Amino acid sequence: MNTASKAAKTIEAVYGPPPQHWVGDGFPVRGYFSHIPKGMRRLSPFLLMDYAQPYEFAPTDNLRRGVGPHPHRGFETVTIAFQGSVAHFDSAGNGDVIHPGDVQWMTAGSGILHREYHAPEFARKGGMFQMAQIWVNLPAKDKMTEPGYQAITAGQMGVVDLPKGRVRVIAGEYRGVKGPANTFSPINMFDFDLQPGGEAEFDFPASWNTGLLVMSGAVTVNGKAVKQDELVVFGQEGESIKVEASTESRLLLLNGEPIDEPVANYGPFVMNTPAEIETAIRDFQAGKFGHLDE
Ligand code: MN
Repeated sequence: MNTASKAAKTIEAVYGPPPQHWVGDGFPVRGYFSHIPKGMRRLSPFLLMDYAQPYEFAPTDNLRRGVGPHPHRGFETVTIAFQGSVAHFDSAGNGDVIHPGDVQWMTAGSGILHREYHAPEFARKGGMFQMAQIWVNLPAKDKMTEPGYQAITAGQMGVVDLPKGRVRVIAGEYRGVKGPANTFSPINMFDFDLQPGGEAEFDFPASWNTGLLVMSGAVTVNGKAVKQDELVVFGQEGESIKVEASTESRLLLLNGEPIDEPVANYGPFVMNTPAEIETAIRDFQAGKFGHLDE
């Protein structure tokens, strides 16, 4: 791929880690978009990113560590397990354990209930836990689509080996290698690592939104130094991104075509208008999202 003729993507801002909060008693996360101006809209189609840095959990007999049944409507939740395992079960009848390296791409669509707990075998043994959950918006025409579920195992990822690194393609395409996730709007989602001295180059349309989280290590991004736990938000000028690692580094890259539609959000519902939010709340209270045991 020749990127020499393309302009470097501008960097709009680099955000440090926001404060940590707990989701249930299982997920010590930082809501990375929470302090970005226009947070839910700025990185459209990505609405939210909760990232749990590596955290050591003690062994427990509590096999309900996490969050019990709760609803979602109007978007997708993408859960990436880096360390530790998450057990999921939903009202559409899908259930799975997400092991390290696996990704769960759940389409809430018209409405779903799910529970998210540490997997029983992980809870009993304890150990290091690290994960991310990204909320991906659905275009208005697809918000009431039937709920869906893609269980993507580590072995199914698209893999591109670099001279000093490796890119795992979850969604979209990198150097001709496609990711396994089916998406409703154009998205590239890559998880990649670099060895000291390693480099990776990417090339995206200027108008697409791009965020880059440095999960570990230290890198320069288009010449700018970025540290562990920082999030780079790129401007909508220029196409090319060059990441150079000075130490062993692992990063998560989100890129997508913006969905230029109004966003109305209340808790676990993301719709286009306040009236649709009211309908979502009424439908949930009326039991229209199905049933799910604790
Ligand atoms: Mn959830």
